[in-house]
Amino acid sequence: MRLFLDFDGTIATNDVGDELFRTFGDFERLHGELLRGDYNVAEYYRRSAASLTDVTDERFDAFLTSQDLDSGAAALITWATREGIPTVVVSDGFDRYIEPLLQREGVRSLVDLACNTLTPSSEGFRPEFPGATESCSCFCASCKRNALLMRSAMDDVMIYVGDGRSDACAVEFCDVVFAKGILAASCTERGIPHHPYRTLTDVMMILQAKLRDGSLRPRRQARLARQRAVATE
Ligand SMILES: [Mg+2]
Ligand SMILES: [Zn+2]
Repeated sequence: MRLFLDFDGTIATNDVGDELFRTFGDFERLHGELLRGDYNVAEYYRRSAASLTDVTDERFDAFLTSQDLDSGAAALITWATREGIPTVVVSDGFDRYIEPLLQREGVRSLVDLACNTLTPSSEGFRPEFPGATESCSCFCASCKRNALLMRSAMDDVMIYVGDGRSDACAVEFCDVVFAKGILAASCTERGIPHHPYRTLTDVMMILQAKLRDGSLRPRRQARLARQRAVATE
């Protein structure tokens, strides 16, 4: 069994990446252009990172302090670890805020993290996308499908929890899906079975019940999708 958790809007209540660019950069214009299809997510991130100004350590710390995580996040991750279920945070956001926020909840050392990086440079900040791929046409800079396939064996039962556009390419390959927001709508549209949820406490309670009654099982279509993806990569 493996547990994959989205970060923005899932572990964190808000989309912290959007909030970061809204607080320190030119969010409204650039995000509008992204949604209009003017450029892809990676280009959006390059432009947004270049637009960041006045990110002093003090202001950045204050920004982090103002960000809330789902009140069930730490409990879910701690429970999964205790059950021997490896947990991976798969995010198309940035290490720069994800790491300290997970640290603050005391769970950074319990999870593997796949995300983009944001490093200070001479022209503001520079984003990098270690999980970028051309083989998936997803709405991500770092592809979550690949992050997940790289970290799984064919026989694993893969559990996914997410809320947004960047999760859409990954859930097709997962056996048990928890979805809210745009992701839930996208799952319904594509006929991907999923559990709607509100908080990570709901997710933990459903997982605990499923573990007890032995219903955390592979999903045939997910396994076939994994086989196909591995064969074509
Ligand atoms: Mg999200
Ligand atoms: Zn993808």
